[in-house]
Amino acid sequence: MSDIEIARKANKKPIQEIGDKLGIPSEHLLPFGHDKAKISEEFIKSLESKPNGHLVLVTAINPTPAGEGKTTTTVGLGDGLNAIGKKTAICIREASLGPNFGMKGGAAGGGQSQVVPMEDMNLHFTGDFHAITSAHNLLAAMLDNHIYWGNELEIDIRRIAYRRVMDMNDRALRQIVCNLGGVANGFPREAGFDITVASEVMAILCLAKDLRDLEKRLGDIIVGYRRDKSAVYARDIKADGAMAVLLQQAMQPNLVQTLENNPAFVHGGPFANIAHGCNSVVATTTALKLADYVVTEAGFGADLGAEKFFDIKCRKAGLKPEAVVLVATVRAMKMNGGVKKDDLGTENVDAVRNGCANLGQHLENLKKFGVPAVVGINHFVSDTDAEVQAIKDFVAEQGAEAVLCKHWAKGSEGIKDLANKVVELVEGGKADFKPLYPDDMPLLKKVETIAKEIYRADDIVADSSIRNQLKQWEEDGYGNLPVCMAKTQYSFTTDPTRRGAPRGHSLPIREVRLSAGAGFIVVICGEIMTMPGLPRKPSAENIRINEEGLIDGLF
Ligand code: ADP
Ligand code: MG
Repeated sequence: MSDIEIARKANKKPIQEIGDKLGIPSEHLLPFGHDKAKISEEFIKSLESKPNGHLVLVTAINPTPAGEGKTTTTVGLGDGLNAIGKKTAICIREASLGPNFGMKGGAAGGGQSQVVPMEDMNLHFTGDFHAITSAHNLLAAMLDNHIYWGNELEIDIRRIAYRRVMDMNDRALRQIVCNLGGVANGFPREAGFDITVASEVMAILCLAKDLRDLEKRLGDIIVGYRRDKSAVYARDIKADGAMAVLLQQAMQPNLVQTLENNPAFVHGGPFANIAHGCNSVVATTTALKLADYVVTEAGFGADLGAEKFFDIKCRKAGLKPEAVVLVATVRAMKMNGGVKKDDLGTENVDAVRNGCANLGQHLENLKKFGVPAVVGINHFVSDTDAEVQAIKDFVAEQGAEAVLCKHWAKGSEGIKDLANKVVELVEGGKADFKPLYPDDMPLLKKVETIAKEIYRADDIVADSSIRNQLKQWEEDGYGNLPVCMAKTQYSFTTDPTRRGAPRGHSLPIREVRLSAGAGFIVVICGEIMTMPGLPRKPSAENIRINEEGLIDGLF
């Protein structure tokens, strides 16, 4: 059965019943239909003095192109913890339309471990991404309008740093010329579109503590520079107030449910490359006030996703994760061990064993953040017992434990062992979370620390223009920001074909960008796409409304 067929059969409860499980009074649960709701800002404020539950991160080894099942495992583990009697909520990201219509793969989990209503979640949901797109483009329009009416701020139109966004994979808009058509239409200049999830507004919404913080951060967005290279901010354009108004409702976290009727917060969805790749701080902090356990996911493999979750989100929001689940799959171990995609179906214990080097390095890395880890083997029907055992043996040799999980096929019943192990880790009280580097370390040194400690590079390569730019930002008062690494998710290195645990590589820095509103320095290593394109056969070709009025083809 496909994911959507399973989701369609879900025995959903009215959303108020899910809210009741968390003690959310009906007047503070703002329903969007029968099965989705937002949680009021007033209620969230009233929770401040309550103690926090335990935060558990789900991350993964370097993935295969299909994804390793982090979301599926996050949903499954949430259900598993609830099944063993722990009051648990999960927190995941919202879906972008771009990948939905491009390559197969939704954002709501899979098999028996899904969030519902999955159609809504993968389409318009509660309109948050539309609000973000509108807020982003309002600033873009006001910026060009400011220049049109005389450019009082003396913005150099060759140095505009703010692009437009839309929630679609559309390569035709990557680079454009705007303001064409004569005097009445402004001053022609080069411009372009990014996908909404790459918008700085998205990252801001996901890191802001509350509406005040949101408005301040929006004002801090740099839209461009003057000829003397001084920055012009969204605040100077006077767009921050109206942008915050457009985002007021989008700031409230969304509550939905899993197939097993457990609470799921689905809120925000920043890119995992040029942004930090996890759901909103507001959703996570709210969930922590309402549940005893909160399971959340970070995008990509642990070298990027977990590092940014710890060093950006947890650092900035004061979160203290207490356990990590590192998701591994037999097929990803095989690929990291050198097997080609087409050969993944045949048993190959040696390749699994070789690929485990990748897993081992992630496990070692996680220790550097002071949070205890367990490996969750996300079971696929094609996995053989010998292959699974090879992973278990390897992990045992590293002094950790790997637990086989069958949540995709069986739901909570298939993941109770992992749930028990997570509780054991948390109750063991061994966690002592610390970020990898201190705030006051020089920016380039922060990058070098990540490159050496996490990627195991020998050195970093940055030409003088990059070094000077970082120094300039330090002088301008941005030196205490964390860095947000943007590189391929398929390798510890910047070369997606180098799998396993490569040695003898260096990290070349191609470009650095300041996201002053989000509050991080983006460090781009390799080719990074901020506006994806559609593949030769987009999955949109197979999506339609069938004779019964149901959606077919959404995975
Ligand atoms: P990630 O969050 O790591 O990108 P997802 O959880 O979204 O990965 O899963 C990616 C895809 O793989 C989904 O379509 C999901 O249904 C599928 N999938 C996940 N786990 C399994 C499994 N154990 N067996 C078969 N398919 C799976
Ligand atoms: Mg995911």
